[in-house]
Amino acid sequence: MEPIAAPLLQWFEQNRRLLPFRQEPSAYHIWVSEIMLQQTRVAAALPYYRRFIAELPTPAALAACDPDRLRKLWQGLGYYNRAANMQKAARILCERYGGDLPADYEALRALPGIGDYTAGAIASIAFGLPVPAVDGNVLRVFARLYDDDRDIMAPATRRAFTERVVAQMPADRPGPYNEALMELGALVCLPNAEPRCQDCPLAALCAGHASGRAASLPNKPPKPAKTVVPVTVALLTSPRGVLLQRRPAKGLLAGLWQPPAFEADHPLDAGELAARIAGLGLAVQWTGPLPASRHVFTHRIWQLSGWRGTVPDLPAPAGCVWADARELEQTYSIPTAFAFCFEDGTPH
Ligand code: SF4
Repeated sequence: MEPIAAPLLQWFEQNRRLLPFRQEPSAYHIWVSEIMLQQTRVAAALPYYRRFIAELPTPAALAACDPDRLRKLWQGLGYYNRAANMQKAARILCERYGGDLPADYEALRALPGIGDYTAGAIASIAFGLPVPAVDGNVLRVFARLYDDDRDIMAPATRRAFTERVVAQMPADRPGPYNEALMELGALVCLPNAEPRCQDCPLAALCAGHASGRAASLPNKPPKPAKTVVPVTVALLTSPRGVLLQRRPAKGLLAGLWQPPAFEADHPLDAGELAARIAGLGLAVQWTGPLPASRHVFTHRIWQLSGWRGTVPDLPAPAGCVWADARELEQTYSIPTAFAFCFEDGTPH
């Protein structure tokens, strides 16, 4: 393979998107943006990024943030354990590194929630260290560039592709090179059989384009089917507000708030749901069904249904609170899965 860096970097200079973390590429900004951008599109993540950085402008501010407030800032991005891990890492930064991210790949890699890719992105973009940052975009680009149909989920393939990424890296510009590869994957060498080879600065060098196989690459084994789990929700109101229950401190959506909801092997009918609510010490009067909804997690799908109802003016049961409209919006972090319960679709 001929060197790709020169045409790639020239293309990047002319086509890079002006993103806030590129305008001020501190290690902290790169870190926050990379964690937010895992599984989230740039356009969707930007408002979260701006709000997060405005309120928590340094690792020290992140370390000191109230965990409930942190969950609220993260609400809508999903994968809340990422925010919790960032806070753990920020506390380590304050204890060991004077509140800054270290300019050292191994030390970055050792922080909670920072894997090979994120450590590589921070080390190369913020500190100019010659290390790779290989994510799904970069694996796709390299599978096509080298017309290589090995399974990209296999560790041996990832190692081989990473060696190629390193072999092509210009010693003086590792950060822009890594960013350019990610940007090429995001804007031109698109997933799902849609490479825009006519716009690609590497088309003349690309073996997948030459063979006509680019659209069928990368080779990825099909994902296992997700388990579908019926979840029945009770949206209960009293003169005190809407009843929210805190989820357990560990596991899926740990520590977040939601209307009482019950997993079962079938959607509960109104009588079954009333019996569950009676278990909280509340007698409910149903006023109507909630709309049906679905929420897709990494390994499972919630099939959501439920009922709206009213309950008497009593103190909230243990583990629950009554939330008024302002608290629903500003105080309690409610997973996006439950937005369907609320009339405007957004409790936040
Ligand atoms: Fe991807 Fe096409 Fe460019 Fe090859 S030529 S890297 S397949 S966009």
